[in-house]
Amino acid sequence: MRKADGYDAVVVGSGPNGLAGALTLAQAGRRVLVLEAAERAGGGLRTEELTLPGYRHDVCASVLPLAVASPAFRALRENGLRIEFAHPPVPAAHPLDDGPAVLVHREAGRTAARLGRDGLAWQETVGATARGGTPLVDTLLAPLDLPRAPLAAARFGPLGLLPATTLCRAVFRTAPARAVLAGMAAHSMLDLRSPISGGFGLMLAALAHMAGWPVVRGGSQELADSMVKRLGDLGGEVVTGTRVRDLSELPDADAVLLDVTPRQFLAMAGDRLPPRYRRRLARFRYGPGVFKVDWALSGPVPWRDPAVAGAGTVHLGGTLEEIAAAEAEVAGGRHPRRPFVLLAQPCVADPSRAPAGRHTVWAYCHVPNGSAVDMTEAIESQVERFAPGFRDLILARATRGPAELERHNANLVGGDIGGGLASLAQFAGRPLYAARPWRTPLPGVYLCSASTPPGAGVHGMGGHRAARLALADTRRRGPLR
Ligand SMILES: Cc1cc2nc3c(=O)[nH]c(=O)nc-3n(C[C@H](O)[C@H](O)[C@H](O)COP(=O)(O)OP(=O)(O)OC[C@H]3O[C@@H](n4cnc5c(N)ncnc54)[C@H](O)[C@@H]3O)c2cc1C
Repeated sequence: MRKADGYDAVVVGSGPNGLAGALTLAQAGRRVLVLEAAERAGGGLRTEELTLPGYRHDVCASVLPLAVASPAFRALRENGLRIEFAHPPVPAAHPLDDGPAVLVHREAGRTAARLGRDGLAWQETVGATARGGTPLVDTLLAPLDLPRAPLAAARFGPLGLLPATTLCRAVFRTAPARAVLAGMAAHSMLDLRSPISGGFGLMLAALAHMAGWPVVRGGSQELADSMVKRLGDLGGEVVTGTRVRDLSELPDADAVLLDVTPRQFLAMAGDRLPPRYRRRLARFRYGPGVFKVDWALSGPVPWRDPAVAGAGTVHLGGTLEEIAAAEAEVAGGRHPRRPFVLLAQPCVADPSRAPAGRHTVWAYCHVPNGSAVDMTEAIESQVERFAPGFRDLILARATRGPAELERHNANLVGGDIGGGLASLAQFAGRPLYAARPWRTPLPGVYLCSASTPPGAGVHGMGGHRAARLALADTRRRGPLR
């Protein structure tokens, strides 16, 4: 694969960022080759029969509000990418030990109506954030640019910078409202006493009102396959089963986009990188890992509060105090006895995932990076706590800890599903402080994974931004060949 192959651009890795980058380049008329280590394209967008025949499980990402809302995916859809989202009746639920579950509906008002004394506060914080709409989402997903929605960003900023524990207590007076925002914030995988963990919670809760928390009909793999097909329509190509170990293996091209994390880039680039850049990249910090369980169930989860049955995502961890304590344990390198558990029940929105009447469900909890502890029992106990009788429905289960996750996808370093710690320092400086952190010191070589702004999630923004930068650089500089 040398010059003769005639590719204008090569993308290493076919996660949502790699594929969004490849499509952005192909739409601009570039001939693009994508090289993927796994046997199937998609990265975080994979769906497999992990347990029993006929039960289709999303191996990684399932719930994709950012794929609805992000400017990258909006642009791709306007240019012919087909995605069929399926929305659950309720985006998210947070069951509690005493009293009914908190339901986060598509409508902020309907959510607020069940929050009693905190209903108004929900409207004034989460509802107000949601009213920031598309311009605010665009601003938060392009954190290094001038804000598209300065007023909404100015309102969001002071709250968004807060630790979740501070934000929840400052805004809400009741335990249920504090708990639900803490559950949202825990998606950040941060200690909830850390700055900006509150911002993650606020944004995710607002996204439920703005975009919903849908799954892709048929499984997340359908989105990856649709992106690969669209790339083929535009003359691009994806070659799977090809792990790139050194940049010298790549065909010559004007642009190389790397959908990998800093550790892999350092290995691939070797001595080609200037020592100072290498040292800065080597300081990049990875976050906690996850331990994931997929179940094939003989029926729907028997939630104690039946309203939870309509939710696509369920947060299991009780009160703010309990969730914060569990996440602090993980941040401190320990395994909580009662972990915060994120559970997705995609069949609620898309029954095609399992035989009639049956269900696929997944859940994960956070663990210290690289942990080898089996958390199956701890996770199932948390589900059983809010859904007594759950275990009786299990037909089969598949589990993956950090080591298995990283074997499946080298970007999941130590089981970190976020492409690196989402701390305040690494939100702005991702993977290092630079005006355009996608650009590397190697001419024509760009990083585009979740280790670049705006970080984790299926939004394609890393790929989209790296591709646009590559196009602009090529126009300015002329072809490298
Ligand atoms: C269990 C789990 C659940 C998640 N749930 C959600 C969710 O519900 N919603 C959400 O928005 N996000 C979720 N995420 C996060 C989301 O999947 C990621 O943020 C997103 O996939 C990152 O996209 P990416 O393109 O940067 O990298 P990835 O999707 O990780 O893709 C990287 C690709 O590069 C390939 N690759 C790596 N190294 C090489 C190499 N040397 N040569 C060739 N190919 C290589 C890998 O095989 C992989 O296919 C979840 C992640 C996990 C693991």
